[in-house]
Amino acid sequence: MKRTLILLPLVIGMVACGQNNTKKTETEPDNAVPTNETMAVYETDTFATQSGKAVTFHALTHASIRIGFDGKEIEIDPVGKMGDRVIDYAAFPKADFLLVTHEHFDHFDTTAIATLTKEGTQLITNQRCAEMLGYGTVMANGDKLDLSDWLSVEAVPAYNTTDGHLQFHPKGRDNGFVLNIDGLRVYVAGDTEDIPEMAEIKDIDVAFLPCNQPYTMTVDQLLRAARTIRPKVLFPYHYGQTNVSGIPSLLRQDGVEVRIRHYE
Ligand code: ZN
Ligand code: ZN
Repeated sequence: MKRTLILLPLVIGMVACGQNNTKKTETEPDNAVPTNETMAVYETDTFATQSGKAVTFHALTHASIRIGFDGKEIEIDPVGKMGDRVIDYAAFPKADFLLVTHEHFDHFDTTAIATLTKEGTQLITNQRCAEMLGYGTVMANGDKLDLSDWLSVEAVPAYNTTDGHLQFHPKGRDNGFVLNIDGLRVYVAGDTEDIPEMAEIKDIDVAFLPCNQPYTMTVDQLLRAARTIRPKVLFPYHYGQTNVSGIPSLLRQDGVEVRIRHYE
């Protein structure tokens, strides 16, 4: 496993989901903002597939995950700016597959999508985002698609269950995704709480679970979700200012390896 340190300034006052409440509290000096000359390096985690090929996850920000496999590129919820963190997608390889879970600004960025798109890029999303974009392959909860001989995807439910939070992510609108990348099973939960459907999500090698209030899960909910799904490796993501530092030790006895990356 190769792990590199991030050079970007940490975001203070990271936004949560779907609300325009970005706070610019503490900012780094202007000269700390990365440019093309000081291209940011993101933390990476690499896993071997059943056929011995490598899948590499690049921790971009919040809910934005870049996945590389055998020269192919998958981008999950690419967003170009979160708080003070800027992701320069123009410096990235174009995407073969773009997956967008839902319409909120911390997941759906038409500029980033355009930057990553080449001839032949396939965009997979929900009904609402496809309508806003004017294109895209629509998946509803429960749909499955074989996208290539090395990639299949299943759209799974992602929604709120707590009173007063239901309007953020109403049931049936948004997606999480279970990807099968050459046999490696990856669950990207999207914006969800610990919903009963998670009991049906099995044999997960790598899971991404969100952890911020009021939009997704509390730490306790994330622990419950992790103990239900039991992924081999768990990346808390979409965690904003939530203190996730205690999660690795709390899940050690459950056989879940937790890795904290810069998915604030
Ligand atoms: Zn979100
Ligand atoms: Zn959201």
